[in-house]
Amino acid sequence: RPSRPTALVTGGNRGIGRAIAAGLTATGCAVTIGARDAEAGRKAAAEIGCGFLPLDLADPESYFTAMTGAGGFDILVNNAGILSGASLLSPKSDFDDAMQVMVSAPLDLIRLNLPHWRETGWGRIVNLSSDWGSFGHGLAGPGAYGVAKAALNALTKALPRDLPAGVKVNAMCPGWVRTRMGGEGANRSPEEGADTAIWLALLPEDGPTGGFFRDRQPFDW
Ligand code: NDP
Repeated sequence: RPSRPTALVTGGNRGIGRAIAAGLTATGCAVTIGARDAEAGRKAAAEIGCGFLPLDLADPESYFTAMTGAGGFDILVNNAGILSGASLLSPKSDFDDAMQVMVSAPLDLIRLNLPHWRETGWGRIVNLSSDWGSFGHGLAGPGAYGVAKAALNALTKALPRDLPAGVKVNAMCPGWVRTRMGGEGANRSPEEGADTAIWLALLPEDGPTGGFFRDRQPFDW
């Protein structure tokens, strides 16, 4: 593994992403947070002591440009997410947005980062998923969110075949976390929610790939 791995955490300006970015920074990684709101992104990056990249995952043109200019990362944490309870059958449902931000953009970022991984032969991808995207846990999430997380899980399971050796991809569920998405009543802190993601981001060579985890343990798809 590189002596000081570089890492990109999407949606790193707040919530679990911010805790992942701070945790990875504390382990000695050179972290960059992606954020769609430049002001919030710069402010969080200054507080964490990391870099910032303007990255709106709903806008492929902007993230293609930003990623091309950034030059590649050892670790990619696909954290950004959006939750809406709209019906899948509503005329303009949130389905397209959910799939873009939580499935298409993560896959695009992986594709854009591929030249770097091909060159270095070492990479870690962490996909922030949810038990609401798990069939084993009843796919309980409302509408588009659960479907998008299930698709992200499917991507995680399918990708190892196509990734270069030395690049691992895993999904994780952070549990119920006190963030804007999780609400104040959630039982976990952002740092607790970030723990398994940080562990997966720094997996040793004999660590798993193509898996789904919670609390550092395999979790039912
Ligand atoms: P928050 O709502 O607190 O934060 C979401 C982050 O994603 C924000 O930084 C937000 O940016 C960013 N984001 C949303 N849309 C975009 C976009 N189009 N482009 C770039 N960034 C975007 O959520 P959490 O921290 O709670 O969630 C992080 C991840 O964990 C998500 O994938 C979520 O689904 C997952 N998760 C969370 C759980 C919980 O209990 N909290 C439970 C299970 C899974 P901005 O500030 O600009 O809105």
